[in-house]
Amino acid sequence: MNAGILYLVATPIGNLEDMTFRAVKILREVDLIAAEDTRHTRKLLTHFEIHTPLQRYDEVTKVANGEKILAELLSGKNVACVSDAGLPAISDPGADLAKLAIESGVQICPIPGANAALSALICSGLDTTNFYFAGFLPKSAKSRKDILQKLSTQEATLIFYESPHHLLKTLAELKNFLGDRKISIARELTKLHEEFLRGKISELENKFGDEIKGEFVIIVEGYSGEEFSLPTEENFIDYCKNLIASGVDKKIAMRDTAKKFNLSRREIYNAMLK
Ligand code: SAM
Repeated sequence: MNAGILYLVATPIGNLEDMTFRAVKILREVDLIAAEDTRHTRKLLTHFEIHTPLQRYDEVTKVANGEKILAELLSGKNVACVSDAGLPAISDPGADLAKLAIESGVQICPIPGANAALSALICSGLDTTNFYFAGFLPKSAKSRKDILQKLSTQEATLIFYESPHHLLKTLAELKNFLGDRKISIARELTKLHEEFLRGKISELENKFGDEIKGEFVIIVEGYSGEEFSLPTEENFIDYCKNLIASGVDKKIAMRDTAKKFNLSRREIYNAMLK
């Protein structure tokens, strides 16, 4: 078979000096680069004087362009796949292309390099022998809750990706569903303002102001076997009732209870009605 090779190439997560010699060489030598965001990748290529043609390959175009890229590979062309940062296929496009290529018998070759999850893990001070990469939590409250409940007895160190916008909400949910565990928050890895915050969730959640900026990885200590009980319906009904008894308006009491226990207002409302 004269098919080409699909290279999955790591790119820097913030510091251009983390680009490897091999990544530059491969990106120069291949016939085509499949990139998550061609404008973003073009800047990287310009910096390293790489003139290889680019093809968009992201969540939106992965079906149509995946077939085109596969056709190029099958015709003998070598293709590199890159994402905006770090390893393609890790919370980024690339996994489907790799699968497609493997199913068609195309050879795949990793070009390792920067990765936010592992960089954060090795500097966390938490156990690195066993870890569980959870990536981004889903958007829906129910799915987040289901996942966190399942993870609550996972003994391996947990790794989460999070955007600045959702950081506080996620920390509150982690505390609610996993308990007030030790965590390490890695912020702006490899960049000028790189920072690690280590401590219990309750100690760190107050360290952020209103405007949170940067990129974050949250590393959470695994389950230690210590009993931790999730807030029960009784707990939050009591909390809400106490607020109302102390003179707080019913609506405000339900809103505050929902916030405190990280539940929806509807859940509180239904429980109170019962
Ligand atoms: N493929 C990437 C990798 O290998 O790490 C991950 C891409 S994912 C779309 C982006 C998320 O990774 C960010 O929201 C953040 O959680 C994490 N991340 C990426 N770069 C980072 C950095 N420099 N510092 C901290 N977290 C980072």
